[in-house]
Amino acid sequence: MSPSTASLIETEHRLGAHNYKPLDVVLSRGEGVHVWDVDGNRYLDCLSAYSAVNQGHCHPKILAAMVEQAQKLTLTSRAFRNDQLAHFYEEIAALTGSHKVLPMNSGAEAVETAVKAVRKWGYEVKGVPEGQAEIIVCANNFHGRTMGIVGFSTDPDARVGFGPFAPGFRHVPFGDIDAFRNVITENTVAFLIEPIQGEAGVLIPPVGYFTSVRELCTQHGITLILDEIQTGLGRTGKLLAEEHEGIEADVTLVGKALSGGFYPVSAVLSNSEVLGVLKPGQHGSTFGGNPLACAIARAALKVLVEEDMIGNSARMGERFQAGLKGIRSNIIKDVRGRGLMLAVELDPAAGGARKYCEALKERGILAKDTHGDTIRIAPPLVITGDQVDWALEQFEAVLRT
Ligand SMILES: *Cc1c(COP(=O)(O)O)cnc(C)c1O
Repeated sequence: MSPSTASLIETEHRLGAHNYKPLDVVLSRGEGVHVWDVDGNRYLDCLSAYSAVNQGHCHPKILAAMVEQAQKLTLTSRAFRNDQLAHFYEEIAALTGSHKVLPMNSGAEAVETAVKAVRKWGYEVKGVPEGQAEIIVCANNFHGRTMGIVGFSTDPDARVGFGPFAPGFRHVPFGDIDAFRNVITENTVAFLIEPIQGEAGVLIPPVGYFTSVRELCTQHGITLILDEIQTGLGRTGKLLAEEHEGIEADVTLVGKALSGGFYPVSAVLSNSEVLGVLKPGQHGSTFGGNPLACAIARAALKVLVEEDMIGNSARMGERFQAGLKGIRSNIIKDVRGRGLMLAVELDPAAGGARKYCEALKERGILAKDTHGDTIRIAPPLVITGDQVDWALEQFEAVLRT
């Protein structure tokens, strides 16, 4: 480690709260699938900022849109209108087939917004008695870090010591349709779920699960809220992961790659009347829907489609997954994923994924361990076949036994 790297890490450690434990690499530049550290070493980014950088680092067209808009107007607040918001609404609604849009900033804010809206919808439209609305969520969910959200997490790290929490949430195991059916009551207003559980280790539910979830939600007047903040916008080889299941959510949450990594932009997309219950003064955000965010998001969506990043995600994901499955290793327990949302689960006897991520770093790959034994692999969607093959050589060198 160079003296400048060591010094930056020491300062971070001394002055910063220790709520993260990053790999010891200090990055100063990015372009496409690559990032460079302060000493000039190049890495292939296999995390993409948790899928916020699907379009690749510093995409020139998103950058140009950002700079152009920043020179004109950045923030008006929603007390006044701006000339970017309507265009953003039109373009994201057309792309996703949504009827209503509510822009926020972080993913967690989009989740909180959906929870608020769906409770109010429950009281005003579904007729649930005041204060009785129930939202069903999954065990091992990840929806963000705010108080409301960690209150319905089942991860002890996320919630222990932070209570008391808001009531009104019921838990079911992910992928278990009978458990879901059994927990429904007449006060159930929504089912909030990730199409693929990302932070839990890239867990894909059984075939047919979401078809049955959709049927039960329709039958019982339950709003199906899909959190596509990580799975959405091309990550799984489709625009939205719901397309793999052949269903449509009532409310879809997007964030992360909605800005291509330039700025925090999230949105609640609604097909039903859920967002219609919010009246002036009942919800908002100073930065939500600002012209800079809208201009950036418009460019981020445009390049995603125009440059066929979604198709590339499907093709390169298949190549990457097949290559990983071909590695001869008795420490690999499972390889799974969809599109470029991939995971290698190691045998617990291998001693945890972190040390393999450290070894990959030495070979020029940045990947993140999750939940102890799983290496998550999610490169930018602009990755080429040659880059996938090079990455596979590095994984093979580190994981082969
Ligand atoms: C990252 C993430 C969030 C939270 O987004 P933030 O922008 O970090 O608040 C919510 N849900 C899912 C599925 C995520 O991956």
